[in-house]
Amino acid sequence: MKTTIIDMHIRRLPGFLLILMVLLSSGCDGRGLRRETRVLMGTYVEILCFDGRAPGIAFDEISRVEGLLSKYREDSEISRLNADGKQRVSGEVYALLSRCAELSRSSSGAFDITVEPLVRLWGFRDRKFLVPPADKIAGTLPSVGSEKIVFHPADNMIEFSVKGMSVDLGGAGKGYALDCAAGKLAEAGIKDFLINAGGQVRCRGTGPGNVPWRIAVKDPRGRGVLKKLEMKGGSFATSGDYEQFFMADEKTGKRYSHIIDPRSGYPADTGIASVTVSAADGLTADFLSTAVYVLGKERGEALLKKFPGCAIVDMEYNNASREY
Ligand code: AMP
Ligand code: MG
Repeated sequence: MKTTIIDMHIRRLPGFLLILMVLLSSGCDGRGLRRETRVLMGTYVEILCFDGRAPGIAFDEISRVEGLLSKYREDSEISRLNADGKQRVSGEVYALLSRCAELSRSSSGAFDITVEPLVRLWGFRDRKFLVPPADKIAGTLPSVGSEKIVFHPADNMIEFSVKGMSVDLGGAGKGYALDCAAGKLAEAGIKDFLINAGGQVRCRGTGPGNVPWRIAVKDPRGRGVLKKLEMKGGSFATSGDYEQFFMADEKTGKRYSHIIDPRSGYPADTGIASVTVSAADGLTADFLSTAVYVLGKERGEALLKKFPGCAIVDMEYNNASREY
């Protein structure tokens, strides 16, 4: 059986870095592999499947979820909530935000969708990066914290209790979107597919040759293949500083990552360059990879214990000699 390799993209636009490779055992199973790519949710979304209906179903669903959650679309439910500070939302968005607040609690605030004012302050929203003065960071912290979101279940009303708050689903939205897409594909009776949304993967069934999907995770710093995974179903997510970062001083080489520690207000700096987490569903994998990146190795591993069936598949460090 011959093996071919398909490179998949992970880095968000603009520009991209190849990082995931799907290894295809090209045994004849007569199903004819299809591969389609679309730019959605600010990243390349790729689907591998055998059923001609699958790409349309998956892309339509991901695009629907993007329309609900995108902070870059003025008419999304999230943008309207951010603009008004109080908003009646759909049952779907209400349930998702409640779940995210719960996940924030379980990660002791390492993952927190209310991090948006900090993401903006560090310039990651508009890609105008800067190291903000310490007093501005301190002044922004009171507007951060999921415990400051008030949930009114009777009418799906969501309210920020502090001025200046806003939410950013960047750390969990892609995972959620893939769960929704997987649900729609299952409803249509489509059993075999792999979707990769910028390093967030969700797959089901088997790949070509009727063997489990085989995926290789490539080193973000370009040192070859880190891990090979075989997956028949489930999800994995990678968070890392290679994806979006800036350097204030090229000489020091210090990277400021787009993943911010909501408790300190500074980009997370636990020495992790990238972490890949597996879970049965995309939302959990997406949340966990972001949270572990913020928490660092030991606390991240402790968090994983609270989520049975989830695992750290790979963890790479910025500085191999660093002590933890
Ligand atoms: P991910 O690539 O899934 O780790 O998500 C990173 C994105 O989530 C960032 O680009 C921000 O939009 C947002 N984000 C940054 N820091 C956090 C955090 N501590 N918790 C939740 N979301 C975050
Ligand atoms: Mg994430």
